[in-house]
Amino acid sequence: MPTYEYHCDACSHEFEEFQYIKDEPLKKCPTCGKVKLRRLISGGAAIVFKGSGFYQTDYRSDAYKKVAKSESTAPTPPKSDTAAPTGAKVKE
Ligand SMILES: [Zn+2]
Repeated sequence: MPTYEYHCDACSHEFEEFQYIKDEPLKKCPTCGKVKLRRLISGGAAIVFKGSGFYQTDYRSDAYKKVAKSESTAPTPPKSDTAAPTGAKVKE
């Protein structure tokens, strides 16, 4: 019968709950009433990330950004290089 730690993403409230392993994890915060609870498992931070899905989404969008960047890098520099001096001349 382990004690689980919970953290609320909405109000940062943290508390411990005594539960059986097969019990459903709590979701609703007793302080603010929002369904923003996360169960913290000591020594298993990776499991928390995996469960939230944040890590995977971040990783993928980062990879997409890299591809998009390398594709747009070639045409962008010459374009903005000529645009800056031209804009300054027009201002004078
Ligand atoms: Zn809360």
